[in-house]
Order: sequence, then C-alpha cells, then structure tokens
Amino acid sequence: MYKGIDCHIHTFYQRCGNETLSVPNIIRRAESIGLKKIAITDHLNTLDRLERFNYIKADIHDVKTDVEVFFGVELNYQACDGEFAYNEKIHREYEFEVVIGGIHSTYTESFDPVEIIEIQHRHFMKTLENPLLDVLVHPFWFSGNTVRQRPPEFWENLLLAIPDDMIRSWAEAGTDNRCAIEVNAHAIFFHPLFSDRYKRIYVDLLKKLAGMGALFAVGSDAHDINTLGQSFYVEGILHGLGVSDDQIWKPRKESVKT
Ligand SMILES: [Zn+2]
Ligand SMILES: [Zn+2]
Repeated sequence: MYKGIDCHIHTFYQRCGNETLSVPNIIRRAESIGLKKIAITDHLNTLDRLERFNYIKADIHDVKTDVEVFFGVELNYQACDGEFAYNEKIHREYEFEVVIGGIHSTYTESFDPVEIIEIQHRHFMKTLENPLLDVLVHPFWFSGNTVRQRPPEFWENLLLAIPDDMIRSWAEAGTDNRCAIEVNAHAIFFHPLFSDRYKRIYVDLLKKLAGMGALFAVGSDAHDINTLGQSFYVEGILHGLGVSDDQIWKPRKESVKT
C-alpha cells in the first residue's frame, strides 16, 4: 500500500518555500522520515522565472539518495479563464517530470457561492483535461486574505453546496485524462483559517470522489522543512476512506506524459 509519497514540495530557489528548503535539506529530511517518492514543485507563475529551475534540476541530480526525487513544477492560471505560463516546448526542454497546477484565486469579488463554485469548476475541468498536467492542485483552497472576509460557516456551506454531478465530472475527467486530484496537507488540512468543520466536510467530499473512482495525488505543499511529512497525514485520511493503491497517482521516471 501507498506510504511515503509527496508530490508537492516547495523550495527557496523560487522563494516559494523558506530558506530551510534547499534540495539537499529536503532529501536528507525525506530520508530520515521515510518518504519514498517526492516531487520538488516550485511555482512557475511567469516565464522569467523559468531559468532558475535549472538550479533545482542540477541539485536533484547531484544528491545521492535512495529516495526517488522528481523534478516538477506548479502552475497557476495567469487570469480568470486564462492560461498557464507553460507549454509543450518548455515541457520538453526542461524535462519536467511532474507537472501540477490549478486555480489560486476566486476571481470574483461577489462572494456569491454559486459563482465561486462555477469559476472553480471551470478551472478544475480545464486543468484535468490539459494533457501536460499530472495533478490538479488543492481544490477549494482559498488564501487567508480571502477566507478572512467571510465567517467559517460561509466556507463550510460553500463546500456543502457543490452539486454531486459536478464532483462526478472531476472524478471522471481525472481518470479519463490520468490527471490526479490532489489531497493537500498545507493548503487544506493544516490551513490555519479553515474550521475543523470545513476539514470534516472536505473529507466527506473526498469520500464521494473516492466512491466515484477518482484518482488522487498526495501533497504536503511544504513551505518549511518542518512541514515536510504532513503528506503522511493525507495518506492516513485516504487509507481511512478505503482508497486503494491503484487510486493513488505515483510519479514514474518514465512516465513523461506526452
Ligand atoms: Zn498552489
Ligand atoms: Zn504549492
């Protein structure tokens, strides 16, 4: 059974994580806590940040370890219904092995739950159907600044308002396209502003997805060396829901998608 996978880790190279997160530090910590497969996935929000990924790639190559370490990237939509700063040419030239991405904004000031859900849904589908993507990151994560603007019940009710046929469409798009739906520790389960009830409702959402045959990915989304390992918590949730090994997406060295 799956244990010790983490497909979402940031570093200091792109200033996504703090200075504790050098590639050698991440790998040494991964060895000591029993991670087996990890992906280093800094943000590529704009193309001018692309070259710095070469330092990450070089460091991954230089560290000798039994941990399987994958060179990855996290993508972000540049506007509502916009595109990622990424394409087939970059994918091939940089040889990214794990490509994760998704929506990082509500893209509306309205706080109309129906509108928020519709916007998230459109971007989830677009991500899951993108042939370059392996993982849809942290569905229904919202930034602290956004979450603070409404009481906890607003966010809890938002999750409860998602129609089942929408949830089913994510499960199906993910399995059809081999793009996994991420279960993210830092962005959801260790998010300081989401209520415990929000997290419980989120587990119910995962349960529905699991029952619909969804493919999941596990990610700590570590931004500090001490939060590396929170992926084990996510794996525990998935085990608790009876998610089988073949429903867990695992990076493979030969699995470059296109
Ligand atoms: Zn993210
Ligand atoms: Zn991230």
